[in-house]
Amino acid sequence: MENMPNPKIQLVEMKALGPFSWHWPEGIERFERGWAAVATVEGQEVHVRHGIGRRDAYGRPRVRSVTWVEGDPLVEGVESDDFDRSEALLSLIKVTKHHLKPDATPPPGYLSLPVVVMADEIRTPGAPQSLAVKLRHDDVAGWTRHALLRAVAWDRLRSQPTEREVLPPVSDVGPAPANVQPQDDSELHAAVVNALLAYAEQHKSAQVEPTAEFTQDQEANEFLLENDFAFLTGVLFDQGVSAERAWRAPFLLRQRLGHFDPERIAQDEAGVREAIAQPPKLHRYIEKTPRWLVLAARRVMTEYAGDAGAIWSDHPSASELQDRFKAFVGIGQKKAAMAVEILERDRGVPIRDMERSDIAYDVHLRRVFLRTRLADLDDRDHMITRARELYPERPGALDLPSWLIGRSWCRPGVPDCASCPLTQVCPKDIERASQVVSA
Ligand code: SF4
Repeated sequence: MENMPNPKIQLVEMKALGPFSWHWPEGIERFERGWAAVATVEGQEVHVRHGIGRRDAYGRPRVRSVTWVEGDPLVEGVESDDFDRSEALLSLIKVTKHHLKPDATPPPGYLSLPVVVMADEIRTPGAPQSLAVKLRHDDVAGWTRHALLRAVAWDRLRSQPTEREVLPPVSDVGPAPANVQPQDDSELHAAVVNALLAYAEQHKSAQVEPTAEFTQDQEANEFLLENDFAFLTGVLFDQGVSAERAWRAPFLLRQRLGHFDPERIAQDEAGVREAIAQPPKLHRYIEKTPRWLVLAARRVMTEYAGDAGAIWSDHPSASELQDRFKAFVGIGQKKAAMAVEILERDRGVPIRDMERSDIAYDVHLRRVFLRTRLADLDDRDHMITRARELYPERPGALDLPSWLIGRSWCRPGVPDCASCPLTQVCPKDIERASQVVSA
């Protein structure tokens, strides 16, 4: 199953629909409501419809769903026994026309969807002992993903939509899709925090040595690991440009300067400025970054005897270390908190009291905190306080997964909720974060 395709699926838009009917060969079925969605699969635009109806199944009337892909009914869902509480439907995972047995590994595309054994959720003779997804009936993002994964596995996206049956139009607009969310705030917060921590674990175990993957360039990564002043430079540069560009800059700067000696850098502001500004520019801020770097080199020479590693090598506490970083011109709360997390997590530097570590307030994390409702306000202190309350064991541990999810899925505009690792727990409060811009 690991070799199964894991296509990039993105939900682009969706709208609620009123009642409609569908002509099966055996008769007409009426759907009380539904949603029409547009998604992309590896960039190919696909139209999806998800309808909610009711019919007899497993011994009694049950809520059910059908999900169409380009007018082709591909996926059916049936009410689970705990529907009154969960509002969830079950749908078998089928890579071929056969079911997957409970000991099978679900295809990788199902990693972000909850997978159960159907017979555990419908305790009636005849319920199959097979793997199924368990999704809220109105989790349109989840149903879209499930249907499209089946469409890809069954090779049903090749034929043209015109060859398929056309879905009937609907007369009126139905209710907006309810979001998947637990009953109250504390339950919601706990579910989101757990999902963030689970994603962080998954991300960590997927990494290969060396653990600190700052950039795609292995030589640049090694330089950051072996040269402490390069690491400090990466922290200084990580602002206003992509992280990859910021963290690759020290390696490229060494090539341009011919050295990376803080003593020489401290005395050569003009040379540093010229090296950074030379095309292609190493940073957007060609005035600020040379100044920050030269001042940092001077501080390393005077306060740390020329050894940037001495900033963190004496087993400091997280808050002491954060203050040491903030003493450098060009490093504020965000970059200081990030540096502490990276040093402990990726470089294995011993740091005491990591429960004092903090999130780094930045544009990606802010979008995720607002859309998941972990935070009510787009305010740095509020978000830091929330992270401390929600995960007092180590608030900073929420930083990397939020940042990665914000950068990869929870993007500005239309987020990719269908593929997002938080999709099952996130209330998807997308409008709340619409004003977030770079600080
Ligand atoms: S975190 Fe963002 S992308 Fe992920 S489900 Fe929530 S709103 Fe969608």
